[in-house]
Amino acid sequence: MRCSCQTLPDAPSYNVIGEIRGSEHPDRFITMGGHLDSWDVGHGAHDDGAGLVQCMDALRLLQRIGYKPRNTIRFVAFMNEENGLRGGKEYAREAVRKGEKHVFAIESDAGGFTPRALTFESADPAFDDKFRQIRGWETIFENYGIRINKGGSGADVSPLRPTHAVLSGYSPDSQRYFDFHHTADDTFDKVHKRELELGAATIAGIVYLMDMYIR
Ligand SMILES: [Zn+2]
Repeated sequence: MRCSCQTLPDAPSYNVIGEIRGSEHPDRFITMGGHLDSWDVGHGAHDDGAGLVQCMDALRLLQRIGYKPRNTIRFVAFMNEENGLRGGKEYAREAVRKGEKHVFAIESDAGGFTPRALTFESADPAFDDKFRQIRGWETIFENYGIRINKGGSGADVSPLRPTHAVLSGYSPDSQRYFDFHHTADDTFDKVHKRELELGAATIAGIVYLMDMYIR
């Protein structure tokens, strides 16, 4: 076996962003996303094509039911997570530079498997009160086997921590993730359509609740 690699000069690349403008608070933002780049073997189907598609589909689901969000809801395909988090860091830098009020951000970057939990964290001093409210929604998710826990969010949304946004991670069943992660087996045929749909519905659900009820 022969391994080789080289570092090439930086080249421009971009986050890809789609949004539905808020009807009441267009200047307050909810972000959901995953990363657009992938490791150099396989297709990056679970890492992070599936996470990206779940968030994109969550935006489509909200649109499909005719939901008019109170806050502006953004889908973000973050660029260059794998090699230095450049897209996530730049997104947060722009948010701070423009003085954007970010209330919630969720990331799906742990594989496109059956949802098991949503985890939450925040640098907001009032987070404990907010988390109590969020945990109250567990009864809505528990029929699907989904828990609501405190815990880490995700690499691309974590640079938003200084904005005091509530940050969340989509936490799917983890048993098979490392069969695929950063391997040549991380291909599209390994992603199950139903699991992808369950993830999209879970993310659409929590984004709806946060949009409706979190101040
Ligand atoms: Zn990833």
